[in-house]
Amino acid sequence: MTATFTVINPSTAQPICDITRASVEDVDSAVARAVSAQRAWAVLAPGARADALRAFARVVEAHVEELAQLEVLNSGHPIGSARWEASHVAQVLNFYAGAPERLSGQQIPVAGGLDVTFHEPYGVVGIIVPWNFPMTIASWGFAPALAAGNAVVLKPAELTPLTAIRLGDLALEAGLPEGLFQVVPGSGSVVGQRFVSHPDVRKVVFTGSTSVGIDVAAGCARELKPVTLELGGKSANVVFADADLEKAAASAPGAVFDNAGQDCCARSRILVERSVYDRFLELLEPAVAGWRVGDPADEGTEMGPLISASHRSTVAGFLDGANVAFRGSAPSSADPALGDGFWFAPTVVLADRGDRIARDEVFGPVVAVLPFDDEADAIRLANDTIYGLAGSIWTENLGRAVRVARGVKSGVLSVNSHSSVRYSTPFGGMKASGLGRELGPDAAEHFTETKNVFFATDA
Ligand code: NAP
Ligand code: MG
Repeated sequence: MTATFTVINPSTAQPICDITRASVEDVDSAVARAVSAQRAWAVLAPGARADALRAFARVVEAHVEELAQLEVLNSGHPIGSARWEASHVAQVLNFYAGAPERLSGQQIPVAGGLDVTFHEPYGVVGIIVPWNFPMTIASWGFAPALAAGNAVVLKPAELTPLTAIRLGDLALEAGLPEGLFQVVPGSGSVVGQRFVSHPDVRKVVFTGSTSVGIDVAAGCARELKPVTLELGGKSANVVFADADLEKAAASAPGAVFDNAGQDCCARSRILVERSVYDRFLELLEPAVAGWRVGDPADEGTEMGPLISASHRSTVAGFLDGANVAFRGSAPSSADPALGDGFWFAPTVVLADRGDRIARDEVFGPVVAVLPFDDEADAIRLANDTIYGLAGSIWTENLGRAVRVARGVKSGVLSVNSHSSVRYSTPFGGMKASGLGRELGPDAAEHFTETKNVFFATDA
């Protein structure tokens, strides 16, 4: 493996800069610094840790535009989305800045004394993130981990390290102690694996593919360290005949083509009740045609390129033999400014049950549409995948919404909307989509171990 890797702008295929890959020795030094920073951090007054995280949030807020522009360059995210992502990092920090002063244990009635529990930090937490949402996913790990009194080593994806590296600088600028939050760029097989095997990294948070996630979990099992896994998805957007069809169709492109479909929560299957199937497709076609794909630096752009040439070939492979109903537009090689970018036009495929496109994660702007017969069939079809991350249910019937929401095996569901992520509510997957939950009221506690202490009161 070379000592450096080149970061590429996916909108133009042009190099941005070279980044040095951390070695195993570099990881070990970072972890050693983290161990000593964590000791000092954990004994600070809870209010002092809260203040430090709020200061970090303020510095991120002051750099939203810079971080957003960096994400446009490195990831091809539309500028509007990138601004949302950078602001979200500040919000996540502010939300978990409330945690140090709220990590209350219990006082449990026992005979002969006083029994109390403490939420003790693990020590050093290793966070491994993918390339699709480099800033936000990192913050879901580092903010609650730091709030709970841990130090963090963060490995960004090699394709998209720039905003994470900048967040590491901003933490220092905000006054976070040296060594407490370190960004360690490098390859998964070296840096990521060392987080898994290093005895002083006491918890691992991994977001990425299900196959790598299984390896990470197996490695953590050998070291007996807890692991949180946020993995792939093949989420269903279930549209019943009694739904507001116009609204369901108008919102469906955003639910799957946002971030060019490179979203673990992408509603990449649209399941439509058979009686309104044709009508729904008629409404969907203009919505897809109107989905604006182009230069992510333009304010009006809704979708940029895919992340890399090799990812584009993988996505294109899913269309072999597929029944394409219609496609949206994308910049082409005729465009001098963007022609070399990794563009892929939004694509709607009519699929049959059991088709690869109907069950496997594409992670690109391709959606499979399938008809269903009734409520029971809709639930069966929605669950016909190894994944269980997100999903949407469109119906005007309240009882049905409740029944289907209870019947679909997914961690994050939404009725008559496509929302998946709010920092104040729990996020994560069932089945092959993951293990454990991030965000929400309890995330800081997930970065602690419970200690029980009994104080004898016998005279
Ligand atoms: P990936 O290939 O699994 O990589 C994810 C991260 O793991 C990268 O930082 C990667 O490093 C690192 N890695 C690779 N091999 C490793 C190993 N053996 N040990 C430790 N770390 C290793 O996933 P991806 O292709 O970047 O991301 C796409 C996947 O992520 C999709 O399946 C998507 O659904 C999933 N995802 C899930 C969520 C969620 O919250 N559930 C959110 C976003 C994405 P390199 O930089 O070297 O590749
Ligand atoms: Mg990968």
